[in-house]
Amino acid sequence: SYRKGGYHAVRVGDSFNGGRYIAQRKLGWGQFSTVWLAYDTRSASYVALKIQKSAPQFAQAALHEIEVLSAIAEGDPSTSKCVVRLVDQFKHAGPNGQHLCMVLEFLGDSLLRLTKYKRYKGLELNKVREICKCILIGLDYLHRELGIIHTDLKPENILLVSAIDPAKDPIRSGRAPILEKPKGYPNGGVTMNFIEKKLKRRARRAVVGISERRASVGGIGGNPTVERCLNGIDMRCKVVDFGNACWADKQFTEEIQTRQYRAPEVILRSGYSFSVDMWSFACIAFELATGEMMFTPKCGQGFDEDEDHLAQMMELLGKMPRKIAIGGARSKDYFDRHGDLKRIRRLKYCPLDRFLVDKFKFSDTDAREFAEFLTPLLDFAPEKRPTAQQCLQHPWLNTRNLIQKEVKSESSLGKVEVGMSKLQIKVGK
Ligand code: ADP
Ligand code: MG
Repeated sequence: SYRKGGYHAVRVGDSFNGGRYIAQRKLGWGQFSTVWLAYDTRSASYVALKIQKSAPQFAQAALHEIEVLSAIAEGDPSTSKCVVRLVDQFKHAGPNGQHLCMVLEFLGDSLLRLTKYKRYKGLELNKVREICKCILIGLDYLHRELGIIHTDLKPENILLVSAIDPAKDPIRSGRAPILEKPKGYPNGGVTMNFIEKKLKRRARRAVVGISERRASVGGIGGNPTVERCLNGIDMRCKVVDFGNACWADKQFTEEIQTRQYRAPEVILRSGYSFSVDMWSFACIAFELATGEMMFTPKCGQGFDEDEDHLAQMMELLGKMPRKIAIGGARSKDYFDRHGDLKRIRRLKYCPLDRFLVDKFKFSDTDAREFAEFLTPLLDFAPEKRPTAQQCLQHPWLNTRNLIQKEVKSESSLGKVEVGMSKLQIKVGK
């Protein structure tokens, strides 16, 4: 794709927008763009530089994304709404053409990487709650204040925010800016490599016995893990990637959302609104807590991915009301006139709370409470799903699991028992 109309090839140290930005390291890429960590010489801070492919359809898409990001930035001058901020935009001429560039605040790794680091085992519920609150604040802002539907909410598009003290930023603390090859990681994002490196350093020190005492004061023992390190980090995040976002009253396509996070009304072509984001949000919350995707549709003998997807939804959430099942432009492809699937006849129903207990070993209480939070968001009737604002009021978000580590105790038989008791309390708001 590094040819005419495609990506712009960047080398570390390349400068952009009249020398204002200097490329440091590649952060990621998407279908339409590559994203680079860049040093902003004007504000003396790091930014993410998104460089779009140059062909007209990509430029068009970038202009749309800039329009959405500008509306987001205008409505949120204090940057408190958990949505990525557009800092600047410009055009960059290169050998493959003219590339529209977006300068965004620099954020950390995505939730996808976070779950991968947890080996797909799921995060502690308290962390899930914190992440859920951030996403909901972002969605409430987009939906209620701006009238924007994201339409592609998924773990890749939620990035972590660092709680690292800006005073420790190598630039602001007076050390030389990194203009050539960057060493280590600057301010901003929580990146797993960063955490890993720090842990390796700590582990090395622990082995040679230098900082054992200091480490234990900090609450980290002799054998630190990424998981433990993550425990110390304030879990904040922001919603990114507005390439597919639209205003609710200006939709341009019926085909929205990434497969696994797609709402039933999108599959059935019954029309959609803000509540499609709420569906995806529920899928993300489930995935964070369990480490597995909620729906993983596949085609099989005689049926396609869409029909399998609808079947999986009904197995977990109950039968779709007939009126909704037969109400979409595509309903006839999947449902008969009774509202039964045409090709997948026998469904194995398993309610969400039981699924959480049986498959993911949730406690009965955790499962019931989490299912009570998720189930309304997964209502087959889109207009019945709670809004982000309503969801923020849900008691589950203000429940806390206290993990209490009990002191090693000798039992009467002389056997050493190490106990972990899980205590649940409700915290009032
Ligand atoms: P696309 O629209 O091409 O999918 P995205 O906006 O999703 O592009 O960005 C692609 C990748 O670049 C992301 O998945 C992420 O890894 C990285 N990225 C994007 N924005 C930022 C940011 N503000 N800070 C840090 N990394 C980012
Ligand atoms: Mg993307």
